[in-house]
Amino acid sequence: MAYKFWFVVGSQHLYGPEVLKEVAAHAKIMTDGFNADKSIPFDIVLKGVVTTPEEVKDVCIAANGDAECAGVITWMHTFSPSKMWISGLTILNKPYLHLNTQFNRDLPFATIDMNFMNTNQSAHGDREHGFITARLRMKRKVICGYWEDETFRSRIGGWMRSAVGAIFSRSLKVMRLGDNMRYVAVTEGDKVQAEKDLGWSVNTYGVGGFVERVNAVTNDEIDAKIEEYRSKYEFNTENINAVRYQAKLEVALESMLAEGGFNAYTDTFEDLYGLEQLPGLATQNLMGKGYGFGAEGDWKTAALGAVVGAMSKGLGGGYSFIEDYTYHFEPGNEAVLGAHMLEVSPTIAADNPKIEVHPLGIGGKSDPARLVFEGKEGDAILVTIIDMGGRFRMVAHDVRAIKPMEKMPRLPVASVMWRPEPDMITANEAWILCGGMHHSIISYDLTAEHMRDFAEIMGIEFIHINKHTTIHELRDKLAIGDYVWGR
Ligand code: MN
Repeated sequence: MAYKFWFVVGSQHLYGPEVLKEVAAHAKIMTDGFNADKSIPFDIVLKGVVTTPEEVKDVCIAANGDAECAGVITWMHTFSPSKMWISGLTILNKPYLHLNTQFNRDLPFATIDMNFMNTNQSAHGDREHGFITARLRMKRKVICGYWEDETFRSRIGGWMRSAVGAIFSRSLKVMRLGDNMRYVAVTEGDKVQAEKDLGWSVNTYGVGGFVERVNAVTNDEIDAKIEEYRSKYEFNTENINAVRYQAKLEVALESMLAEGGFNAYTDTFEDLYGLEQLPGLATQNLMGKGYGFGAEGDWKTAALGAVVGAMSKGLGGGYSFIEDYTYHFEPGNEAVLGAHMLEVSPTIAADNPKIEVHPLGIGGKSDPARLVFEGKEGDAILVTIIDMGGRFRMVAHDVRAIKPMEKMPRLPVASVMWRPEPDMITANEAWILCGGMHHSIISYDLTAEHMRDFAEIMGIEFIHINKHTTIHELRDKLAIGDYVWGR
């Protein structure tokens, strides 16, 4: 979808038509300036200057009804009495950004008079607007800065990604093949609450139906898929039949996902009746195309992966389903090794991924083909969503992905190593105190602020583990959160 953001400028009639014309002209110049700037990733559509309660309400109703509108951005060039905004804002259901900016950067010291003051009073008008949005308890973001400033614009761009994630999330569909892994707690959750709070429609489809599709895949379809693999990856196996079986799985999965309009899916190694291998390479290649995935029936991480994909569209850093797997506790050189049984996205590979076939050691099926690679270096976040019973908690964690200190030639899966902030001990204690899952999404493009803004729009709890985190403060935050969000 070609998401757009609506720019609405507030004013009133008190200043006369000349001032309103000037306000409209400024808004046009600003809109054009924003749209010409690459740091603003989505189009901004100027919806004009609103000066009456009817105009405010009309624009809010129209925004609600426009599927492409991913958010409303407002700014009060002059003073706009905010009771005019109540009837519109109380029904608006799009993400909301309130800008506090000004058309001119500097005061015109030599010529400033009351006329200038009345035309350029966002310092004053945006405070009136801030009061009403606070009074209405609106979910909103406020960004202050001069409109041509680079940081100001990139912050707008960042919020837009969160807003697009929210709009995408509200119509996200997850296909589940099989249930959750038996006895596992953290991958469970309330699917009704998830649809209410996050918009995720999560439904199950029989593995038998999937098997039928797998068996119906033709040799030509497999050949075409193998060509696709050859164009993207290096073959490091003689067992072409195992690779062809993954190609078959991918063709079947792809057709089911496309037909159902699904953005994400799950499977589980405990429910593979009629299948020869657990999807490995197939799932990795699909993740590379933007599908969310969760292993062991983990529909929350599957959906979260799709949301992260929508939010990071056009960025090249990569993101993946990942699992905290094993620790390296060497003093001063501590790190976490993240991996999974098979399913890590090739978008985070440091070098060309290799297709290999190895035993799985779990699930009792044939040796599955998978992509093996080392994850790239760079600043990243880990994000998780857990079900606290009646509500969700999102945790984002700042990490630094690193090149492993030594080669791991016998590791038969894709992996990525990271150093967590603020340090290995505090970081892991903090994550565990939050109840963060062993599964998460690693993203090299998004920051905790993107996820915080997403959580704000959706209305769920958000915790950020970062270089300032201390365990005592975190414990207090979690305790307060239980009262704010409900136990
Ligand atoms: Mn797992």
